[in-house]
Amino acid sequence: MARNGVLVVTGGSRGIGAATSLLAAERGWAVVVNYAGNVAAAEAVVSHIRKAGGEAIAVRGDVSQPEDVEHIFAAADRIGVLTGLVNNAGIILPAQRVDEMNAERLARGFAVNVTGSFLCAGAAVRRMSSKFGGKGGAIVNLSSGASKLGGANVYVDYAASKGAIDSFTVGLALEVAGDGIRVNAVRPGVIDTEIHASTGDPGRVQRMAASLPMARAGTAQEVARAVLWLLSDEASYSTGTTITVSGGRAIVP
Ligand code: NAP
Repeated sequence: MARNGVLVVTGGSRGIGAATSLLAAERGWAVVVNYAGNVAAAEAVVSHIRKAGGEAIAVRGDVSQPEDVEHIFAAADRIGVLTGLVNNAGIILPAQRVDEMNAERLARGFAVNVTGSFLCAGAAVRRMSSKFGGKGGAIVNLSSGASKLGGANVYVDYAASKGAIDSFTVGLALEVAGDGIRVNAVRPGVIDTEIHASTGDPGRVQRMAASLPMARAGTAQEVARAVLWLLSDEASYSTGTTITVSGGRAIVP
């Protein structure tokens, strides 16, 4: 049995979620690697963890669907006691201005980025909270620099969904602070993952990199290290707070 208990990482198959899953396994969590559709990527993360002597399972599920969320957490229950959740699954839709966005697009983006995080947090709290007989735990939400910068002309909807995550982090942290659960967020800047291609502009990261203070984008591993710190007992008195991992890129507080 993993010494830190079970960690659910939503969207653990690629990018920041995959890096977080790998590092969490190294640090003693049994990891539930959730994915939406890319089974090969999820299985690759699981196989990497197992080869290194760690414990992991891949579980398919769309975090915006309540029955899928139940399935993900039921799978977690089968491998041990849940002690952590990383609300990482998130999507960006093709670049549009607000005057071009339709209701269908808005519903999809908010369903995955916001409703998905709420549903997963609810399932985690019902297992970890001392109010429900649990032993406590930690939740880390993925915000974004976009929540403060606004995403004009590209994805104001995505930025607003991450603004919702900022409020959610503070509100849930206060709601469960007395129940043994800490809730924090990591706010990445420009990180080199496949998510940027979803805007329809795969060269976006490389183009932006030169203008960033460190003249490079961040890596998924650099974000994962902040997530793991917030999950760990090293962060035992931190709740309702956010770590910015942006390589110095100014993000208005
Ligand atoms: P990514 O490389 O596109 O990976 C997204 C992951 O989420 C994949 O594992 C994907 O699964 C999963 N996913 C997508 N929709 C899902 C759903 N409905 N249910 C369950 N899983 C779902 O993204 P990333 O760049 O690592 O981003 C991870 C998080 O960091 C997101 O919340 C994002 O908003 C945030 N963030 C990223 C950046 C950045 O620059 N990259 C900056 C700020 C914040 P499949 O593999 O099955 O498709």
